[in-house]
Amino acid sequence: MLADKDRIFTNLYGAHDWGLKGARQRGAWDGTKYLMDKGPGWIVDQIKESGLRGRGGAGFPTGLKWSFMPKEIGERPHYLVVNADESEPGTCKDRDILRHDPHLLIEGCLIASFAMRAHACYIYVRGEFIKERENLQAAVDQAYEAGLIGKNACGSGWDFDCYVHHGAGAYICGEETALLESMEGKKGQPRLKPPFPANVGLYGAPTTVNNVESIAVAPTILRRGAGWFSGLGKPNNTGTKLFCISGHVNTPCNVEEEMGVPFRELIEKHAGGVRGGWDNLLAVIPGGSSVPCLPADTCQDLSMDFDTLRDLKSGLGTAAVIVMDKSTDMIRAIARLAYFYKHESCGQCTPCREGTGWMWRVLERMARGQAEKREIDLLLEVTYQVEGHTICALGDAAAWPVQGLIRHFRHVIEERIDTYSANPTPAQPAPVAAE
Ligand code: SF4
Repeated sequence: MLADKDRIFTNLYGAHDWGLKGARQRGAWDGTKYLMDKGPGWIVDQIKESGLRGRGGAGFPTGLKWSFMPKEIGERPHYLVVNADESEPGTCKDRDILRHDPHLLIEGCLIASFAMRAHACYIYVRGEFIKERENLQAAVDQAYEAGLIGKNACGSGWDFDCYVHHGAGAYICGEETALLESMEGKKGQPRLKPPFPANVGLYGAPTTVNNVESIAVAPTILRRGAGWFSGLGKPNNTGTKLFCISGHVNTPCNVEEEMGVPFRELIEKHAGGVRGGWDNLLAVIPGGSSVPCLPADTCQDLSMDFDTLRDLKSGLGTAAVIVMDKSTDMIRAIARLAYFYKHESCGQCTPCREGTGWMWRVLERMARGQAEKREIDLLLEVTYQVEGHTICALGDAAAWPVQGLIRHFRHVIEERIDTYSANPTPAQPAPVAAE
């Protein structure tokens, strides 16, 4: 279990002052100029050495991503864009940073921007986050007033501006290039890559897009040392991580824990255990709605980290842990997620636009048992035709939960079909969502 002294987010629950005074008492903005004086190269090397992997879902090494930016400012300015469009079902970690510890994020923005030679940073906040945006904007204003950002930020000689941009509530704007399009005032639709944002990003200029948590942990890593951070967790899966625990647990919560914490310990110590006890556990979605579910028997000793979950054909994703007990109708649960992805598809690519709706409609029938068993493989085949054949990862995100369902709960679908064909009755549950 993570010791209190190793916590980065010491005001995660908003028990203390989120403003500048409180943040400073907790250690934010301490020695920022000193860190910047060590130079951009040192900062990037430290982040690389810490082993920090992006906290937005993909787990790409953060320091390496920063190193892709040009080393000198050419004709085009550099930008840092922070993705605060947190919308993945089950995920609610960044909102607690925005409203309860915004100065950690703003200090991280300054340091990361300096490391990538960006004089400006934009924070793109999810449309539904009102209080979060208000606190963040107030914190930005406080930082300007105290000379921590703006001209000669922290007395470092580096000019830095930080802008808060409020989205309009579209899930797809959490995809980094759709986010950039949206910021430019266009429809939030993902761009074809390459070119990648480090070459052609916001307004055609070199840009890095990072998740809120990835940026907010950077100042503490630099202050306490890369070795401290890499000493937590497991090799290649280092540091601390915010977990969002929801579903059929006794006390759903957000909690900062060590990477690789055993699933059982995570749920027992922080979420009050599974509703009805461990024997009542049916399945877990370990990393937000887009990752495949895992059945109860694989979860007990599970190490919650990127590599272990990938090896199990699931993923740590955003570390949004959705626990489902035996009262859950797995087919209907996944049908509901399928509806979400169908609704959020931006419609640019045919496999996603058509496939998401097709998968949802078939799952709706399967949830009622009104299907044929051969359709299970047909559905699986369609998920493979969507996965990897689209412009952005929303297609994959729609396909993976269905693959997880068929991989682990095929017998449930078959039983439902058998039950219905033995007794086809008109009284069936309503669809999870109307088209
Ligand atoms: Fe749009 Fe879906 Fe294609 Fe992504 S995969 S660009 S959401 S249609």
